Parts: sequence; C-alpha cells; structure tokens
Amino acid sequence: MIPVTTPADLRLAGGTVVLPGTGAQRADVLVADGRILAVIDPSSLAEARETIDVSGRHVLPGVVDAHVHLGADIAMPRDADDVRPETAAAAAGGVTSLIAYLMSAEPYDGVFASSKAAMEADALVDFGFHFCIGTREQLESIPSYVKDLGVSSFKFFMNFRTDEGQRLGLPGNDDGFLLELLEAAAANGAMVNPHAENADLIKLLARRGVLDGPGVEENPLQAWDRSRPDYVEAEALERIGFLSMLAQADLHTVHVTNEMSLKVLRDVRAHQPKISIETCTHYLTLDIDAGVGAYGKVNPPLRPRSDVEALWEAIADGTIDTIGSDHVPRHGKHKQGGIAKASPGFPGLQSLLPLVLTEGHLKRGISLERIVDLVSTRPAANFGLGDRKGAIRPGADADVVVVDLNAPNVISTDHELSGAGFTPWDGAEVGVRVERTIVRGRTVFVDGAVTDEAAGQYLPRAKSGATTNRGARA
Ligand SMILES: [Zn+2]
Repeated sequence: MIPVTTPADLRLAGGTVVLPGTGAQRADVLVADGRILAVIDPSSLAEARETIDVSGRHVLPGVVDAHVHLGADIAMPRDADDVRPETAAAAAGGVTSLIAYLMSAEPYDGVFASSKAAMEADALVDFGFHFCIGTREQLESIPSYVKDLGVSSFKFFMNFRTDEGQRLGLPGNDDGFLLELLEAAAANGAMVNPHAENADLIKLLARRGVLDGPGVEENPLQAWDRSRPDYVEAEALERIGFLSMLAQADLHTVHVTNEMSLKVLRDVRAHQPKISIETCTHYLTLDIDAGVGAYGKVNPPLRPRSDVEALWEAIADGTIDTIGSDHVPRHGKHKQGGIAKASPGFPGLQSLLPLVLTEGHLKRGISLERIVDLVSTRPAANFGLGDRKGAIRPGADADVVVVDLNAPNVISTDHELSGAGFTPWDGAEVGVRVERTIVRGRTVFVDGAVTDEAAGQYLPRAKSGATTNRGARA
C-alpha cells in the first residue's frame, strides 16, 4: 500500500477486496481514468471525486467469461437485439469482459468487422472474439487473424466430423485438418479450443435407438446423457490431447463435464502441460435429475450427480483452470418438440457468478481467491488479456464487481435479461447478489438495473496460451 498523490475519480470504501496473492482483505480501491489507481488501507486519506460505500460487501475483479455465444442463431451478433440484452445479462451477472465465438463458413474478415461494429454500438461490457475454424481458407488465414484482427484462439468442433455441423451451416472436418489447425495455432502464438465429442460413437448410439426407447419422455435429460455419454467426450479429449502434444500446441478444453474426462486430462497433462481445462456453471450445478426437461439440454449433456461432485473435487485440487458460461441466447421456444428435437444450450452470463460463489464458496468453502482465479484471473491470462483484465491491481482496467455474500435470493426467469427468455436455474436458491458492476471505472449495473453506458470496447488479443502466466496460478 503506497501513498497516493494523483486525485482519484472514484473510491470504493469499506469493502473486503479479493486481491491476487493475498486473498480477501479490508481495503479501499481507488480508480482514475478507468484504471485501478491503488489499493489502500481504509484509514488512508486520499481524495476522490466520488466515494461509494461498499461496507459489508466484497469487491472482486469483474468476471472474464471466455465462453459465450451471441446472435439469435448463435453464429454472430448482428444488431442491437443480439447485443443489448445479452451484455445487460453480463453486466447484471458481474461479467465485465466476454469472448464470443463467431461461427461461419465464410472468411472471417467480413464477419469480424460487422460483429465488432454491432458490439461497439450496443455492448455494455468489453468483448473479444474466438473464431470457429472449418474451411481450408480460414485455416490458411490464421496468421492474419492473429496479427491483423487480434483473434488468437480458435474453436474446432471434433463432432462435426460427419453432418452434425449442418444445422449451423458449418462443414465437417477430419483429424488431419485438426492436426494442421493445431500446427498453425502453435506457429502463431494462438490456442485451440476443441469441442470434444466423438461423432462416430454418437451415430452408433443413435442407431441403437438410445433416444427411442421407453423412459425417454419420463426423464429426457437422462436419455440425452445416454445418447452422448462420458466416454464419447473422454475419447475425443484423449485424442486431441495426443494431437496437441505432437503439434506442441496450446489447448483449452472447453466444457469438460465428467470424471472420466478429468482422469484422461490428468494423464494427458503429465506429458502435455500446455492444456488448460474449462468447465461450465451448469455442469457444477445441474445434473440429469434437474427436472427441467429440454431446457437443460446442452452439448455435452448434463451428467449424473457423481460427475458434478468430481468436477468440484477437480476445482478444489487445481485440475480445472477456468469456468465459463457457454451462454447461448437462442429463444426458449426452440426447446419444444421433445429432447431429440430441442435446440441445445441456454443462457448463463447472468447466473455464473452468483451460482459459483454460492455452490463453491458458501456451500463448499472454496476460497474467494480460488474462485476469482477460475472466473477472472486465469481466463484473462489464458486469452491474452492478463495485462489489463482479471485482477484488482494498480494499472489494470477498473473492472470490478461488488457482491453481497449474505443475500439469500432466488434465480427467476422473471429477472433473466437474456433474449432467451428463460433460465434452467429458475427457482434455484442462491446466497449471493451482484450489487454493482463497473467496467473501466463506469458503473454499468447497479440497484438491479443496467445504466445507459453502452461503452463496451473491443479487446484485441495478440497471443493466447494455456501456459501463459502459469506461475501465477493459485
Ligand atoms: Zn459453446
């Protein structure tokens, strides 16, 4: 704590601040020009134009949600309706930066420009993009995507080997293409984010009638799990782990859901340390008995309760690096027609932080510092934003969320801001309330409402990598 001479714009006074390295402690935070100016002792004299009393509250770095889909068709954000409600949900959930997956079979230069313009016009929070790579032309453009567009992470759908990608207008590719993608990423300081499911095994199970048998209507989520079970995911993770080792590529395994996959990844990591492991809010909080029907349909599927507990153990022991929402804004009307027909995914930006703090910290005693690492610090570092985002530290962007950890309340579809118009956590009890969200020094959410500060900025990311700043790992 150093003496401060510059006058601050803002002082967050009287709260408990979660700081990198030292954990939660009583301190005041000073903000100037959109950045953290200093973290000072509450008794320190320092001038600020505005002081906000946050006594009894916790002050955390804003969430960096690196797994988001935007757009009514989840391919890309196109207009205010695609951007405003979703970034309002982000702000209400304490998410100050999001990285959205753009999905197209076209070259990305045009898609990038139009998506960036749509976000700059209406986003309440800062944003970056990942590209999903499916064509030869896109693969060959990776050096330019990294250098010219600031996109340094690329998704590959291992399950689009056959025709699964057709509903999104994306082509299928084989493991040869995947190895070339890994090599291109490694050569350009980029990272590959695989959707790991074995499409051939999914086809086999469909032929065997897993979704036609008795009991599907009674428990559709159990049936959906049986149609793409744990080994479908674990096999693909083992394969991508091996291929990434050959290519010496950095890997971010998105949405890991189960104990078998964790075992595979622990083994792979012994030989291939350049892997970061993500799970998502829903795999930590919902299971196949959630009783929400097709509203809980997602790929990979929700799993049995034993897998939920295995994920929490992997959070406690440090195996899992990040938590993302896999936010999908597609409207709830697409959930009709039975489990096989319903569209996968649901909104998650607004509920990630309250749920993870409730289930992880309040119920399981996982430290606030560890949770901040999972939802803010590591995702920022992994995706090339560690110098600006993910920690309350002098010089970093003043992206802050003020939470009340003693605020029992209930998640409700009535309060869901996403255009999806539903939440699979409707009725879930949480003990945490997001009170205020600040992006680069400006309040974008307070007292249950978003403010009129559509000032989200594009975040170019020159480099991504699972081993970036691993020394700083909690
Ligand atoms: Zn996703």
